[in-house]
Amino acid sequence: MSKFSKVVLKKGKEESIRRFHPWIFSGAIDRIEGPVEEGDIVTVYASDDRFLGIGHSAIGSIAVRLFSFQDIEPDLKFWCSKFQSALDLRQRIGLITRKKTNVFRLIHGEGDGMPGLIVDFYNGTAVIQAHTVGMWIIRDLLAEALKSVLGVRLKAIYDKSAKTLPFKAAVEPKDGYLFGKQGKTEVMEDGNRFIVDWEEGQKTGFFVDQRENRKLLSEYAAGKDVLNMFCYTGGFSFSAMQGGANLVHSVDSSAKAIELTNKNVELNFPGDKRHEAFAADAFDFMKDMNNKYDLIILDPPAFAKHKNALGQALQGYKRLNSRALQQIRPGGILFTFSCSQVVSKTNFREAIFSAAAISKRNIRILHQLSQPGDHPINIYHPEGEYLKGLVVYVE
Ligand code: SAH
Repeated sequence: MSKFSKVVLKKGKEESIRRFHPWIFSGAIDRIEGPVEEGDIVTVYASDDRFLGIGHSAIGSIAVRLFSFQDIEPDLKFWCSKFQSALDLRQRIGLITRKKTNVFRLIHGEGDGMPGLIVDFYNGTAVIQAHTVGMWIIRDLLAEALKSVLGVRLKAIYDKSAKTLPFKAAVEPKDGYLFGKQGKTEVMEDGNRFIVDWEEGQKTGFFVDQRENRKLLSEYAAGKDVLNMFCYTGGFSFSAMQGGANLVHSVDSSAKAIELTNKNVELNFPGDKRHEAFAADAFDFMKDMNNKYDLIILDPPAFAKHKNALGQALQGYKRLNSRALQQIRPGGILFTFSCSQVVSKTNFREAIFSAAAISKRNIRILHQLSQPGDHPINIYHPEGEYLKGLVVYVE
């Protein structure tokens, strides 16, 4: 008899689980045997009493997120094996040993078989972000496992879950160190230096997911006048400068982000007059910029966090992109992104298509971009594909 409560599914509702989809929707549940509170570990069975998996329960439409399809004991050894497998992947794709890069995502939720958990590694500090109470409750166990797997590479673990746990959960999380202590730190991505402040910054402190796309941008930047809209810490701006841009304007509505960008530019290109940063709203800034830029990056925050906001979000992408496509110089290149999980690749492409039609210009797609290998997409969980980008040439 398992010590965990047992969730039994309705007849026929086990199909997706047998194809390794890790989510159990509340409507698929026939009954629960035993007490269950948010975040508790439960075992899941089909209606014919066949074992399906083990996972964390939650209040909401996704009632269980499975972290194993085998009947295992979720102890330290088990979590160590999860981290080890994630680390192996990063090692195999050359991220860990890559010269000039010491920041990567170690755990990308379902993509690494750990639904509800994000871990970013910043030059010795692991920043943990729990999106479920289940992962948050076991944070000390996870910290132990991380220490054991990362060994001397790990100097500190910071838990930054206060804002990411479901707001209805009856817990009072506080951000803080689970191990060691390291204030904001300098990290390096492809030779570019950044100050990352996980305590104050957005998300875990830095957008690790744009690494490959920044690199691609640098290849297109030589001699160009560049606008980096929604710059945050300035990632795309340095890539453009590194690639030999003629001029780079970074824009963000947050004054703090502009301050960060300026600091980071100074760190990498001291005294370089090619760069200027502006604290401004994107739509205002783009009102009247006719023919000023050859290369524009649009990397806005998620316009839609929920399915019911999809229509509005698509309108937002359309408006934003039409401004850029109408005004970019002839022969210009636009790097445009969406990080909304509910916006599919097709949705996004259609929004850019509509924006292109408004501009009435001849526009060709050069690249279709996604997230890098340290943000893997579990093939059985296509919902994990959230970052979409298009690079288009505007005649
Ligand atoms: N491109 C960045 C990440 C962008 S995150 C990188 O590579 O790291 C989105 C950014 O958009 C945030 O910094 C946020 O402050 C900014 N933002 C949100 N709304 C905005 C608006 N209306 N105008 C300009 N910037 C905005």
